[in-house]
Amino acid sequence: MPSVATRNKFTRQLTTVWNSPRITELRASVVKWQKTPYSGIVILVTGTVLATLIIMVLDRSSVLLPNPGLVYLPVVAFLAYYWNWRYAAIATLLQLYCVYFFFIPPKDALKPLNTASVTQLVTLAAVTGFVLLIVQLAHGRRLMAEHAAERLMALNRIGAALTSELKEERLLHLIAETARDLTGAEFAAFTLRPINRLGQPLVPSEGNLFHLAAVVGVTKEQEMVLERMRLGGEGLLAPIFRHGVPVRVEDALEYMPHPENIQSAKLRARSIESRESARQAAFEYAHGHQTKEGLRSLGVPPGHPIVRSFLGAPLLDSNGNVRGGLLLGHSEPDRFTQDDEALLVGIAAQAAIALENARLYSAAQEQAQELDAIFESIIDGVALVDDDGKVLRKNKTAHQLLKALGKNTEVAENLLRRVAAYALNDEIDMSIPITVVDGSKEEREYLVSASPLRQPAMGSGPLAAVEGSNILEANMQSTMQNANSQLLRTGAVVVWHDVTEARKLLVERQAHAETEARRALLQTVIDELPSGVYLVSGRDARLVLANRAVTEVWGASWTYGQPMSDFLKSNGIRVFHVDGRPMALEDLATLRTLLTGESVYHYQETIVHRDGTTLPILTNAVAIDPQVLGLYAQEETAGGSKMAETAAIVVQQDVTALKEAERLKDEFIGIAAHELRTPLAVVKGFAQTLIVQTAHGKGPELADWQMEAIQDIDQATSRLVELTEDLLDVTRLQAGRLQLQFEPADLVALVQRIVKRFKVTTERHQIELDTAEENIVVTIDPRRIEQVVSNLISNAIKYSLDADKIEIAVLEDKSANTALFYVRDYGIGIPAHQQSRIFSRFMRADNAHANNIGGTGLGLYLCRELVERHNGRIWFESVEGQGSTFYVSLPLMPTE
Ligand code: ADP
Repeated sequence: MPSVATRNKFTRQLTTVWNSPRITELRASVVKWQKTPYSGIVILVTGTVLATLIIMVLDRSSVLLPNPGLVYLPVVAFLAYYWNWRYAAIATLLQLYCVYFFFIPPKDALKPLNTASVTQLVTLAAVTGFVLLIVQLAHGRRLMAEHAAERLMALNRIGAALTSELKEERLLHLIAETARDLTGAEFAAFTLRPINRLGQPLVPSEGNLFHLAAVVGVTKEQEMVLERMRLGGEGLLAPIFRHGVPVRVEDALEYMPHPENIQSAKLRARSIESRESARQAAFEYAHGHQTKEGLRSLGVPPGHPIVRSFLGAPLLDSNGNVRGGLLLGHSEPDRFTQDDEALLVGIAAQAAIALENARLYSAAQEQAQELDAIFESIIDGVALVDDDGKVLRKNKTAHQLLKALGKNTEVAENLLRRVAAYALNDEIDMSIPITVVDGSKEEREYLVSASPLRQPAMGSGPLAAVEGSNILEANMQSTMQNANSQLLRTGAVVVWHDVTEARKLLVERQAHAETEARRALLQTVIDELPSGVYLVSGRDARLVLANRAVTEVWGASWTYGQPMSDFLKSNGIRVFHVDGRPMALEDLATLRTLLTGESVYHYQETIVHRDGTTLPILTNAVAIDPQVLGLYAQEETAGGSKMAETAAIVVQQDVTALKEAERLKDEFIGIAAHELRTPLAVVKGFAQTLIVQTAHGKGPELADWQMEAIQDIDQATSRLVELTEDLLDVTRLQAGRLQLQFEPADLVALVQRIVKRFKVTTERHQIELDTAEENIVVTIDPRRIEQVVSNLISNAIKYSLDADKIEIAVLEDKSANTALFYVRDYGIGIPAHQQSRIFSRFMRADNAHANNIGGTGLGLYLCRELVERHNGRIWFESVEGQGSTFYVSLPLMPTE
């Protein structure tokens, strides 16, 4: 073992010395000198002379050399190995002569040869010949090895050149040029099969569908011919394109179909036949069943460069598919060797790789551009950040965001370092909410999150193209450091996700949900109400909202958006006044409110359904501000804007039960009043009899107090009679049994009569009557109008506690065809809040109670009923504490 170690050491030392600069330099100059023309002759002469001198010296020093000629052998071998056999042959002849002349006795003289010396010279010549043979063999081997090495180097050089060229067009040209130059061809053409972006062939390998990709060594005209030519798997090209094997032909002329065959009459058929046979031959050649001599050429078209020597090799992709063909030609026969073929196959292999590289490169470029475009167009802000929180790359949105944050370093720090650090610690799910004020001073909310950026170990993904070379270098360094791990973490991708709109939407959605919930609650509440509640808008009262009870009240379901008149008409619903008169559509509380914009309260209507059932209702229609509800007309105004529509909320109360109670009450009052009449008549009759009889002196004289008592009884009974009459009138009115006896009467005379009567009863009040006309004739029930006038005057007296003036006037308004009279007092007046209900039954104002003024609250009710039965109107003006004026207007000519 030690000896082996020592030898290895020795060999190593030797190699070191041999490769040392000085020795290498020396070797190089020797090699250079060796190439000079006379170097062989110099070595031949000096070698022979030196060998001769050495033998002579050895001879003189009486060293016995059995065959001195052998000393020349190294010179001969050296010349044969490094120069050529001619120098070696000359050296052999010289050596034989020297041995004969100098060393065969007698020495240094010409002499005849004897058997021994001939034997010696022949032996020497034979040994030298043998050595020469061996050296020649070694020389041949060396040349072959050198040639192979040279080719390999050439291939490597080509490979390097090809793979560094990424532009496909230039690459193709370079391949063709290299192939031509290395093989000594006259021209080279490169055909390609069309492929898609993924590198898959788009056409079959047969059918002449390849296209000319590059050509060198031809004239412009020839190039045009070649471009127009259909290239593909026919003739000599068939084995290459169809079967993917190389073809080398010494002389293409020999493969042409026989001239007679082409010229013959059945040219077409023959040509097809020859095509078929060429195809068959190609198949057999490709599968090793046929030598290349069996191949068929189909000839070349006019204008094509002459091809006698032909060499072609297929370009195979990684799946073994034919990707194209590299074709070489020469106008002289037998120009391509086996080596050329091997070389071309090598070049084709390199070219295939280079082409694939170019394709991948352009695909990667395209992809990178696509990714770039996507990256830039992302709405979210995206930035690539390295380990130190330095921004390597950012898209447009991120750029703008960082600009907006420019001054606020703390925020920027948060955004980048902190978030990136989370990602680098593999805390991917961390996201930070942040608010940024953008260029238009609008506050925007972002959710900033990051994920680690991983790249393949030696990767050069599209995102590796970062700004600034220093970053690239840094990447390279970290790449080297982590070469062992599969994926490298080179930084983080930070994403600002704009959640402003999403947040707004969420808030809006919540608000909407709340509103919806409230609306639903409200709907439930109003649905559960016993009264009908509905909302209408527009002058035609289109339904906006309604509760369940509305359907019951109307006896039909009212669809949303349907105008009220449509609804009533289509469902055969009619509406009547309390007294049974049909109500005009515009008099309905709902429509009146919408048309006038004023609320209507406690309005009595009677609904008659299609089936004839009736329903008395009390309606409150409240006008509401349409803008509050956001209700707008469908038609636009002239100005183009939409008008807010009038709207009303209507509550309908079913008063059937109330009506029934009222009817019962009226009936009871009626019966009671009726039953009271007889006893009252008896009491009043006897009281008056007592007074009259006593006055006539019949019976015993009554004491004063007895007389007063009887007069009180008489007055009280009168009031009771009046009250029962009023009550009976009320019940008659309610039951529709009040009959009026119309007849022409003079209103002026009627009022004068009543005033006269009242003047008698009061001393405290001054009643002034103003009559512009002598007489005003109206058709009335005089008794009932008298009742009205009396009631108004008695009220004026009754409610004027501190005032004494009462003004009465009777007027005629010819244009309006009405007679008008009023009663004005300066008494307590009626409180404003009770004025709207003052004509209701039993309604008495608070101040009447407060001042202890007696009354029933039936008088004004009866007045209104009676006046309206006369087709007249009654109304009043009153200010609390200042007085009231009650007006009555009656038609001059009755309409009834
Ligand atoms: P009564 O006078 O019996 O109470 P009425 O129906 O005649 O009933 O009147 C109804 C109410 O109207 C009265 O209670 C009173 O409060 C009010 N009123 C009527 N006339 C006047 C008036 N001239 N001045 C002040 N208040 C009046």
